[in-house]
Amino acid sequence: MLPKPKKRLGQNFLLDKNIQKKIVACADVQPQDSVLEIGAGRGALTRLLAHKAHWVYAVEIDRDLCALLKDEFKAVPNVVVMPQDILALDLRKQFSLLERKLVVIGNIPYYITTPIIEHFFDFRDLIKDIFLTVQKEFACRMTAAAGDREYGAFSCFVQYHTEPKILFEIKKTSFYPAPKVDSCFLRLSVRRKPPVEVADEGLLFRIIRAGFQQRRKTLKNSLKPVIPQQTLEAFFSQYSIDPRIRAEKLTLQDFANLANLA
Ligand code: SAM
Repeated sequence: MLPKPKKRLGQNFLLDKNIQKKIVACADVQPQDSVLEIGAGRGALTRLLAHKAHWVYAVEIDRDLCALLKDEFKAVPNVVVMPQDILALDLRKQFSLLERKLVVIGNIPYYITTPIIEHFFDFRDLIKDIFLTVQKEFACRMTAAAGDREYGAFSCFVQYHTEPKILFEIKKTSFYPAPKVDSCFLRLSVRRKPPVEVADEGLLFRIIRAGFQQRRKTLKNSLKPVIPQQTLEAFFSQYSIDPRIRAEKLTLQDFANLANLA
């Protein structure tokens, strides 16, 4: 018998077979590819990926599910079940000798969406594409442009490192148990080079975070702790920007221009 889904591990299993196939088709896995699967669960995607990829590294934290996965895939030579926390996986130790960059795929546990993305960005030089099923709200935040309601520091962070694209929506009824909200399947294509040039990446993200921390404040007020007023004034005048502007209207290029003046 299958173990009961564990809520605390974000276990919402994707049961809809058409969606499972659509995910694997969209990921366009090639026979030479090594795939790292985040949260293999009951192996719904693992099974399909094993037919396509050279290697499938199926990471799963739940020991009960790992036992099932190990049993099912013991005779499948290209599937490696890795019983562990994805956030503790050092991709450099495990995968730096691969000839091709990794393809990462996951219907990921919602409670750790942001930490998972941050973790993978630490190893972005080893990754080609990241395909994720996430809550729709998260997908909209990642793909939002300046001026959109969902635009924020997380949008800038994701778009600095990747080109995000929502590929399709998934209804909550496709999962068991059904979560409260619908999901989206999206691709994060890892950029070889960021879309903007900055002298100090740390400063860029300090400015972005401070800018969005209190969304109601004008940029002038929210950036007081991180940027001298003169620099801000020089920025407004050099780039013809209204000094009453709020962070939500600034593009990544605007933030980069500001960081480079500081
Ligand atoms: N891939 C399966 C599917 O599509 O049906 C399962 C998806 S379910 C949303 C997320 C899976 O991630 C669960 O099996 C859960 O146990 C696993 N998981 C949760 N936290 C994890 C972590 N920190 N590291 C690895 N796996 C985790």
